[in-house]
Amino acid sequence: MRIEEDLKLGFKDVLIRPKRSTLKSRSQVELNRQFTFKHSGIAWSGVPIIAANMDTVGTFSMAEALAGFDILTAVHKHYSVDEWRLFIQRVPEQVLQHVMVSTGTSDADFDKLKAVLALSPTLNFICIDVANGYSEHFVAFLQRAREAFPNKTICAGNVVTGEMVEELILSGADIVKVGIGPGSVCTTRVKTGVGYPQLSAVIECADAAHGLGGQIVSDGGCSVPGDVAKAFGGGADFVMLGGMLAAHDECEGHIIEENGEQFMLFYGMSSESAMKRHVGGVAEYRAAEGKTVKLPLRGPVDATARDILGGLRSACTYVGAERLKELTKRTTFIRVAEQENRVFNR
Ligand code: 5GP
Repeated sequence: MRIEEDLKLGFKDVLIRPKRSTLKSRSQVELNRQFTFKHSGIAWSGVPIIAANMDTVGTFSMAEALAGFDILTAVHKHYSVDEWRLFIQRVPEQVLQHVMVSTGTSDADFDKLKAVLALSPTLNFICIDVANGYSEHFVAFLQRAREAFPNKTICAGNVVTGEMVEELILSGADIVKVGIGPGSVCTTRVKTGVGYPQLSAVIECADAAHGLGGQIVSDGGCSVPGDVAKAFGGGADFVMLGGMLAAHDECEGHIIEENGEQFMLFYGMSSESAMKRHVGGVAEYRAAEGKTVKLPLRGPVDATARDILGGLRSACTYVGAERLKELTKRTTFIRVAEQENRVFNR
């Protein structure tokens, strides 16, 4: 047994220190980023935020709505090939350019991924998602996908440490998904005691990825737009959001009514709710590592997207970053023992 003594930080442990700025208005801030991905060689530009591949958030409707903001959606893996076909026929190419096709790591998943990608050459992103990105089986699947799809941009995870980020990039990942345990409906830390504070994971993993010419996505743990700014400030190239995009009209969650008020159920992909919906229940050998929450309906996602992008632009102006790309360089985090004033939130 060993103990690492240096303190690891989450978003709640820091604030971004303001800096002298020549920017006159937040409208001057450029949120689009350009990347040329290491393995696929694809040049991409857009707002590097991704709707999470959870079945109530990473929906076709979400992809349509967020493409208008140049934001990506990792479409969840539970749509059938036929549903994909209809979606692809229905939407313009511009929407497909903002879609990641999610997959698990079974042979059946591989066949389905192949079938979906064959439907349109515009589908350029693959998102290989497992709860534990440290498994050999996962790395083998990633290598297989890289061989089969040399020209697709592959995002794979989740991991939280530099050495595993390097292994995934060397095994074919363009973007490594970083985050174990920070999610809004995740109970991994409670059920297993395993995890890593998200900001430190991002800082350490970004360093490892950038050293090899790869990218990372900070996945999970953002609860307000300021957290998104902190993730980018810490070095994340992309930020993935689940809870912040939940319960909107574009989400395909179950709606319930209580005392005349409507709520949408939002749950982790390893929760009992998800396992019941997709595989008929929780297998005997495992525990659910996600929970289910009931959220008031929030209307169209447009207002939320604007709020997030507005917060990000404002964060950039506070530190004098003309473009999102510069935010990391201009970020100094201060460790704090307070965040917002919650006197009216009680
Ligand atoms: P959020 O933005 O809601 O804080 O985090 C979203 C992320 O939580 C997802 O992208 C995914 O990585 C993670 N997640 C989703 N469902 C579960 C779950 O059931 N268990 C765990 N451990 N993580 C989950």
